[in-house]
Amino acid sequence: MDFSLSREHRMVQQMVREFVQKEVAPVIKEYDRAQEMATFVLPRMAELGILGICIPVRYGGQGMDYLSLGLACEELEAVDTSLRVAMSVHMGLNSMGLLQWGTEEQKHQFLVPQAKGEKYGCFGLTEPGAGSDVAAIVSNARRDGDTYVINGEKMWISLASKAHNCLWVARTNPDAPDPHDGLSAFMVELDRPGVSRGDIHGKLGVRAGSTGWIACQDVRIPVSNRLGEEGEGFKIAMSCLDNGRYTVAAGATGLIRASLEASLKYAHERKAFGREIGKLQLVQQKIAAMVQSYDAARLLYLRAGWMKNQGLRNTRETSLAKWFATDASFHAASEAVQIHGAYGYSDEYDVERYLRNSKGAVIYEGTSEIHQLMQAGYALQYRQDAPLRCELPAYDPDFWQD
Ligand SMILES: Cc1cc2nc3c(=O)[nH]c(=O)nc-3n(C[C@H](O)[C@H](O)[C@H](O)COP(=O)(O)OP(=O)(O)OC[C@H]3O[C@@H](n4cnc5c(N)ncnc54)[C@H](O)[C@@H]3O)c2cc1C
Repeated sequence: MDFSLSREHRMVQQMVREFVQKEVAPVIKEYDRAQEMATFVLPRMAELGILGICIPVRYGGQGMDYLSLGLACEELEAVDTSLRVAMSVHMGLNSMGLLQWGTEEQKHQFLVPQAKGEKYGCFGLTEPGAGSDVAAIVSNARRDGDTYVINGEKMWISLASKAHNCLWVARTNPDAPDPHDGLSAFMVELDRPGVSRGDIHGKLGVRAGSTGWIACQDVRIPVSNRLGEEGEGFKIAMSCLDNGRYTVAAGATGLIRASLEASLKYAHERKAFGREIGKLQLVQQKIAAMVQSYDAARLLYLRAGWMKNQGLRNTRETSLAKWFATDASFHAASEAVQIHGAYGYSDEYDVERYLRNSKGAVIYEGTSEIHQLMQAGYALQYRQDAPLRCELPAYDPDFWQD
């Protein structure tokens, strides 16, 4: 067993760290307060190759492995969750879905411009009346000759107002005996007639990110925009979530690290009862818990990334990493605020933003409750993963870098 990072992994880490620390950290508070996404962020991430990091070079990406994606997400969220959320949807939930399920033509049409960062992808699963219960989706796609006509609304969609393409899950068969089998997945270009969209304001966290709604009214797309077969929409969405959840787990690990680093600094600076508060054992207990959860979260996401590289099914391991890391990051951020006392309660310090941002991740990409059900299901053997018609391809450097 080898726990060391390769030279390439360390280079990715360094490159992303420098970008976020130098270019984003100094201005993030301003954008968070304004509840706006910084306009330079996505183009700069594209320029640096981050938006195509683990996509093969032949499909417009950087040809790095899936571990590099995780390491990049950890660095991004160590500064702000909104940056990692962009990666979760553009890369994890959309581009990697195309890599896994797309035909060669679809990869050239959609994946190449997304991996190059010329276009951004988002993921439309949630609807006003369907969140955890995906089978309750009511947006629909009706076949009409060589086209599908899409109607319906998606809610809480990250990058809704910024993305060019949405991986949209809609009902194609309202009569399927199991409603999960009546869903299909489509690539919907968001500049098509009949698409409207907007941002949601007043969010608790990821205020420097874009979260919104997208509505389709009689939006006509070619049949060639269907990803996979009719009826495979639920399986496709769940496999996209295996990739998105991995990025969430890695990012939450970065948020634990940021909470820890801020707490260490403050614990050395702040004095109470005649000594720095780091000397107080109850403060030490909080710091020790952050150290513990950082290492555990990191090992869990790196295991999931390693399994992706090997081409091993990792739904269970990724769910565990996501559940653990996001719960732990919420706890770590809350304790970081506690260590900062009243100062932690103001946006003079970053920890209040960490706390607000960390709450979203225990809700999206499977709530903590859903992950607990999954883990219990595996342990009790009520749940097993059947092989998929299209698996995420194992990382093969010859293919990826060719
Ligand atoms: C910032 C943000 C970004 C998002 N980005 C996207 C995106 O890009 N694309 C997208 O499609 N969606 C996105 N979402 C939506 C997100 O995935 C959903 O909010 C999530 O799946 C939960 O669905 P819900 O909010 O409808 O809650 P519900 O499913 O209504 O759940 C409400 C409560 O009931 C609990 N619950 C539900 N079912 C069970 C059960 N069987 N057992 C026990 N408890 C249960 C839940 O855990 C939760 O506590 C985003 C959400 C947020 C907050």
